[in-house]
Formats: sequence, C-alpha cells, structure tokens
Amino acid sequence: MTTKNTKVGSVNDNKQVTIRNTGKRGNHRFEKVYQLGCSLCGCVYGANGADIFERKCPCCQNGKPGTPFISQIKIEVKPQKIPVV
Ligand SMILES: [Zn+2]
Repeated sequence: MTTKNTKVGSVNDNKQVTIRNTGKRGNHRFEKVYQLGCSLCGCVYGANGADIFERKCPCCQNGKPGTPFISQIKIEVKPQKIPVV
C-alpha cells in the first residue's frame, strides 16, 4: 500500500472506512486522529492517520481499542431529592 488511506471515504484492506479527520492530536506526535467506521459491523472509532491502512475493527476484528478523539466531558450528577408521597 502506498496511500495512507486518510482520504475521506477510502476503505482499507480490512474494510475500515475513513469517515473524517477529527483534527484532534493522536498518540503520534504529529498525527491527527481520524474517525473510522467498520463497514462490517458499524463500529465507529478513532485511529491515527498512519495506522489507518492496517487498522482492524476493535469490535469485530480484534483490533486494538480506538484512539480517543472526543474531549472528555465531565458530567456531574447531582442527587435529586425525590419528594415522598
Ligand atoms: Zn467491525
């Protein structure tokens, strides 16, 4: 393979489709995280641009877990007082 499969819509040998460039920085220093989708099971996950060509689905192909690309959102759950009837 000569291409890195970073083009949106490209499919690698493992049937993983490049959905978009998230613009987030991945594990690699200069690499952006791309959002990939598995065309076999529909799993959506993040992957470093350099890894796309050999990426395997973490859901159905035993690939490594997806690279997180969404900033962690802290959700605070406050216990609510439930009125006793
Ligand atoms: Zn899959």
